[in-house]
Amino acid sequence: MAYQVTNPYTNQVEKTYDNHNDAYVESALTKGHRLYKQWRKESVEKRAKVLYKVSELFTEKAEELAAIITKDMGKRISEAKGEVLVSAEIARYYAEKADTFMAPTAFESRMGKAQMVPHSIGILMAVEPWNFPIYQLMRVFAPNYIVGNPMVYKHASNTPGSAEAFEVLLKEAGVEEGACTNLFVDYSQVNQIIADKRVQGVALTGSERAGELIAAEAGKNLKRSSLELGGSDPFIVLEDANLNEVKKIIGQARLYNAGQVCTSSKRFIVTENNYEKVLAMLTEAFADAKTGDPFDERTTLAPLSSLKAKKDLVKQVEKALENGATLAYGDMTKNQGDDSFFHPVILTDITIDNPAYYEEFFGPVGQVYKVKDEQAAIELANDSNYGLSGIVFAGTQERGAEVAKQIETGAVFVNSYGGTLPELPFGGVKRSGYGRELGEPGIEAFMNKELVVVR
Ligand code: NDP
Repeated sequence: MAYQVTNPYTNQVEKTYDNHNDAYVESALTKGHRLYKQWRKESVEKRAKVLYKVSELFTEKAEELAAIITKDMGKRISEAKGEVLVSAEIARYYAEKADTFMAPTAFESRMGKAQMVPHSIGILMAVEPWNFPIYQLMRVFAPNYIVGNPMVYKHASNTPGSAEAFEVLLKEAGVEEGACTNLFVDYSQVNQIIADKRVQGVALTGSERAGELIAAEAGKNLKRSSLELGGSDPFIVLEDANLNEVKKIIGQARLYNAGQVCTSSKRFIVTENNYEKVLAMLTEAFADAKTGDPFDERTTLAPLSSLKAKKDLVKQVEKALENGATLAYGDMTKNQGDDSFFHPVILTDITIDNPAYYEEFFGPVGQVYKVKDEQAAIELANDSNYGLSGIVFAGTQERGAEVAKQIETGAVFVNSYGGTLPELPFGGVKRSGYGRELGEPGIEAFMNKELVVVR
């Protein structure tokens, strides 16, 4: 595969990168392993200080980095800036919490005074996607830097600009050479890296197919892994929901990042009494979306990440329609051009025998379902191959929380828009993957909590 920047707004190739050879990979692993050994003898304080600098630098350079993201994968410039700023927050969070997360936890045992002492495990391989090209890297780098796990990463082939800029900025902030190395490598090199004995873990965010392959490699080599895969998150509106609140977020829940978010709301599950009103709200939000240059602040809907992504989504919607779905909003003739824009559509009447029922639509496509009551909403929400996150709108927070408990998923946001924050663990169940990034579980993902017992 070629690492190249193809601006999704113009479909012009802007820059092509050469792949790194095996000697380069070897040198990255050698440097990483040396640092791993060195860090085991050092306190975390020094790394925490560097991570504060990383946070400051990402904040300072937010505009510059945002422009690189937008050129790479086409998201709106304000969203790109938001992504950089949340990445800076992640760095600051782990810097601030370094002492707490790395402190031993003592407990009494019949055998004596016991402690769990946090340690690093070795180099971590990260394989990351294009949809949040800076945030995804920071989500893995920051906690593992504190733990003392050096990282090497293979970024998506369409976001090499972000991959390169991330490494350059870390260096500028004082991150040691070998602590986080960008590798423009192919899949077979990724497998060799996973097999290398200096590498002790692999973190992937991406498609289910990539998840299956990476997990198999990790399993074969007995390496720890975490997978963040797709999602078809439910957005449940119960009969007593406050529709004014629903209206405030319904468009953003689906259209943020041009709908290319694993935790976007993709299935709107609405009780009969609210069905027409919620359908009208989603229709209005979709109709208001204004396509255009992602660098233009007036644009509210960016192109998809590539022409191929758009064509794949068109095919998927056409297949859903052929299998009996109704096009409740949208005009598929607008989606036939050779540009990367996908004009939003709403699908209804999706029956269980329609492939769309179990599929993820990675773009501005809303599926809307009508259900009789709360129980039917929960059953439909759970009748999915995925379980990443979800939103529940109920008359009270208590009822929403009760419904949340019954949903098989990694996270539920009650009466509010789901988002990402450094302290909130992120990850799923079923075919959405396993393991967590961010928060406390995120830093523990590739940590060895060594038991030490003193009589
Ligand atoms: P891919 O899985 O193709 O790409 C993700 C990353 O994995 C890329 O770096 C890609 O490299 C790499 N990759 C793919 N196959 C292999 C392999 N066999 N060995 C090594 N590396 C591999 O995902 P898409 O580009 O299709 O991205 C969209 C999908 O990812 C969606 O289905 C979405 O749900 C999911 N996703 C999940 C997220 C989450 O947080 N859970 C976030 C974002 C996306 P290359 O680009 O070179 O092919």
